[in-house]
Amino acid sequence: MKIGILALQGDYEKHTQILDQLGLDPILVRYPIELLDIEGLIIPGGESTTLTHLMKRMNFYETMIDFAKEKPILGTCAGLIMMAKVANHNLVKPLELLDIEVDRNGYGRQIHSFIEYLPIQLNNHIENIPATFIRAPKISKIGKGVEILAEYNGEICAVKQGKHVGLAFHPELDGVSIFHKFAFISNSISSNKEKPHAA
Ligand code: GLN
Repeated sequence: MKIGILALQGDYEKHTQILDQLGLDPILVRYPIELLDIEGLIIPGGESTTLTHLMKRMNFYETMIDFAKEKPILGTCAGLIMMAKVANHNLVKPLELLDIEVDRNGYGRQIHSFIEYLPIQLNNHIENIPATFIRAPKISKIGKGVEILAEYNGEICAVKQGKHVGLAFHPELDGVSIFHKFAFISNSISSNKEKPHAA
């Protein structure tokens, strides 16, 4: 199965290794037309203002929003920001695929980057997985249809809505494949369904 990785900017290379591990076929996506040939898409971390600029310049918005009606998108960090409904920054134009509001750099600057272990509810057990946060966004609000997959220190940091998955951290940097598997192969993670959360 061909899974695209938006390769305009940011850390897209590492995702190819995770897709390889899962037996999926990674395709680097640089033009909107390439979306027609894939079964799912990853929007990687990077810089959401730069991603906005490049996605506008390359005319990605319409095609990507259409793509998301049928096929899953996994966003990590800046990718999560791009999937939000509200990004709270005038240079960021999000795709509005997840009914969430985010604060860019909500966990602080580069020096405040950290790795934490997050408990994730898999089919019938809980696993602690490493999660690397780098100038990560905070999810400040979620809408009703949004499911929570993980929290860190009381903050929601992984969500799902419909087919789409958004993560504030970078699983690809720690060789963690469960979220990619969840988004593109199987429903193996259980969520805290529709837990109301205010900013
Ligand atoms: N802070 C970055 C942004 O605003 C995201 C950082 C990342 O993707 N690691 O887009």
